[in-house]
Amino acid sequence: MLTENTKSRDEGSSLTERLIAALGQDAVLIDPDDVARYCRDWHGDVTTGAIAVLRPRSTAEVAKAVKACSKFGLGIVPQGGNTGLVLGGIPDAPEHQVVLSLERMSAIRTIDPDDFSAVVEAGCILSTFKDAVAEKGMFFPLALGAQGTCRIGGNVSTNAGGINVLRYGMTRELVLGLEVVLPDGTIFDGLSTLRKDNRGIDLKQIFIGAEGTLGIITAVSVKLTPYPDQVATALLALSSLDDAIRLFRRARRDCCDLMSAFEFMPPLAFTLAQEAMPALPIPIAGDYPAYVLMEISGSGLVDIESLMERFLEGVMEDGLVVDGTVAASQAQARNLWLIREGMNEGQAKRGAHMRTDISVSLSQLPQFIADAEKAVTDRFPDCVCVSYGHVGDGNVHLNVLPAAGLSAGERQAVIYETKTIVNTVVDRYQGSISAEHGIGRLKRADFEERLPGARRKLLTALKQAIDPEMIMNPGCQLNFSVNR
Ligand SMILES: Cc1cc2nc3c(=O)[nH]c(=O)nc-3n(C[C@H](O)[C@H](O)[C@H](O)COP(=O)(O)OP(=O)(O)OC[C@H]3O[C@@H](n4cnc5c(N)ncnc54)[C@H](O)[C@@H]3O)c2cc1C
Repeated sequence: MLTENTKSRDEGSSLTERLIAALGQDAVLIDPDDVARYCRDWHGDVTTGAIAVLRPRSTAEVAKAVKACSKFGLGIVPQGGNTGLVLGGIPDAPEHQVVLSLERMSAIRTIDPDDFSAVVEAGCILSTFKDAVAEKGMFFPLALGAQGTCRIGGNVSTNAGGINVLRYGMTRELVLGLEVVLPDGTIFDGLSTLRKDNRGIDLKQIFIGAEGTLGIITAVSVKLTPYPDQVATALLALSSLDDAIRLFRRARRDCCDLMSAFEFMPPLAFTLAQEAMPALPIPIAGDYPAYVLMEISGSGLVDIESLMERFLEGVMEDGLVVDGTVAASQAQARNLWLIREGMNEGQAKRGAHMRTDISVSLSQLPQFIADAEKAVTDRFPDCVCVSYGHVGDGNVHLNVLPAAGLSAGERQAVIYETKTIVNTVVDRYQGSISAEHGIGRLKRADFEERLPGARRKLLTALKQAIDPEMIMNPGCQLNFSVNR
């Protein structure tokens, strides 16, 4: 077990010397300022530490690092772009853990447009990969606000979602194969690009969404699609969230599944976005109860522009959409998306707040939001609820901004209690407390509380079989221990 073998704080310096001796000076960061950069979460709410940061350059070096950590009884926290929002990528026991950063493994090994596939190393930044693929006329559909920083290995390890899920699925559906360094240093080479391969259990699946608890993903083979060179983006004003769900159903049918994004935003979105970006233009006048940012895209012979026009004509005639604007250029489309992205920054500017990442069945979403917001404001009438997100997937971020003027301690108390209130409503709707961000360390207690016995048994058996010394990302997802 990790705790029995782990060296004490006094032996810290000799441990780092041994790591450097095993892996080379170049691959081990120990300067406290350097290490600190890898030990702060994206929001800057939590800062921890680590014995060292390991930065291998190749799969063989990852295997060597894993063997050294196993020998020295060190826990390994894999890290990609460190944009995860649930504290999965930063240590929770600084004296016993190292961060293993994949940032120097960023090569794109192949892009094969004829095979509609590519092979990329885990440390490649998502947007770098998307750009490289686009240069070959191809498209990798994973798209999220953090794409300029997050890395492919992190995306696979969290089974990331994002704005295009409703058309292309979660990351899992884009992955064809994986290369993984297992906790004993063995390399699992599953980098096939076959689309059909039913030779028994599909082992890659256990590493997708595992948040680094079963091994370190070093490379990924993925599906590509033709680049959608026609994109129509519209910001639409509606009378209610119920109408947004009706609009979504209608759009899926009328647009022949060419819809690639459907984001719901409340009226407060514009205020929040402008608090973060005062110069951002807001293209719709008036104050409507609900807004949808919608995108249709395609390539080849379809005419996306006229499809959007005809669709909007119909839904406006039927009163489903009361106002709206269609982007006339890429720059205008970008500004519409900045409203959605600026909302997050605007909330952060208002101070510490309660954030959720929930899913319930699509048909129940409006009632769920109404019930959860009511439960929160009944208890804290001065709080502001902000509900928005990838509504087409039944995924909503129901966040709570505590009243202005509270002390830091009072804010934390509101955050804690409102999270419990919202999770109770999620349970009533048999929803998920983590639609796409994972469990990490932040949601571990809430996850464990809700874990049925059979699922816990299977997860524990899997962990014990693959990582018997429990060195991979200890403390993340489940508090795995032999006696539970
Ligand atoms: C502004 C913003 C917007 C976001 N929007 C979305 C969104 O729309 N949808 C969504 O799903 N997420 C979103 N996220 C969350 C985050 O970007 C994703 O979870 C992303 O996939 C994390 O990638 P990363 O490289 O930053 O991983 P990290 O944060 O570095 O790590 C995440 C987890 O994966 C593990 N890990 C990382 N790399 C490896 C590896 N190579 N092998 C094994 N384990 C590894 C880590 O230990 C950790 O547990 C957003 C985050 C931000 C900041």
